[in-house]
Amino acid sequence: MAQKKGKLIILSGPSGVGKGAIIAKLFADKSLNLAYSVSMTTRKPRNKEQDGINYFFVDVSTFLNHVKGNDFLEYTNFIGNYYGTSKSYVLNLQNQGYNVILEIEVDGASQFLKNYEYRNDIMSIFIMPPSYQELEQRIRMRASESEAIIEKRLNKAKEEFKVQHEYDYIVINDDLDIAIKEITDIIKNNIN
Ligand code: 5GP
Repeated sequence: MAQKKGKLIILSGPSGVGKGAIIAKLFADKSLNLAYSVSMTTRKPRNKEQDGINYFFVDVSTFLNHVKGNDFLEYTNFIGNYYGTSKSYVLNLQNQGYNVILEIEVDGASQFLKNYEYRNDIMSIFIMPPSYQELEQRIRMRASESEAIIEKRLNKAKEEFKVQHEYDYIVINDDLDIAIKEITDIIKNNIN
């Protein structure tokens, strides 16, 4: 029997909203049959990030060659660095039946949501912080970046809040367990 194709789950939300913690918990639920879309980026690795696990870290000319080759489902420049979703990487996982998590920012998500070839495969979820103040505190606690970068991320967050209505679902990450339960229910309702 042919393998049932998986879904593509777009998860967006501002830096510091807790996407990493949410994704880690979602992956613990094996019934969701998830795989992670490892993006390509020209950003330098942070802390313990590993090539091929968190991102494929590449230089700008390699990235632009992939753009020319039409290898991305979507890509963007986010505060000075390129980020893109590899078409072959994602479609391969989807064809194996995995529900693939695409953790991407709003410009890329918007491009992808307008691509009707994939629209029926996609569910999109925007994660909101309980408040802007809380977000700022979380980003500062991470303390891995310069003040200039933190400011850029905070300004970008304000822009991102404006497009949350383009998503199929909005989930507020105040209590992590509640957010996980909501997202798990959304995924289960869409994959069955
Ligand atoms: P970070 O530098 O914090 O890892 O990522 C910055 C932003 O880029 C985050 O909002 C993250 O979700 C987003 N991002 C990561 N990979 C991709 C991608 O392949 N495409 C797009 N459009 N955004 C991405």
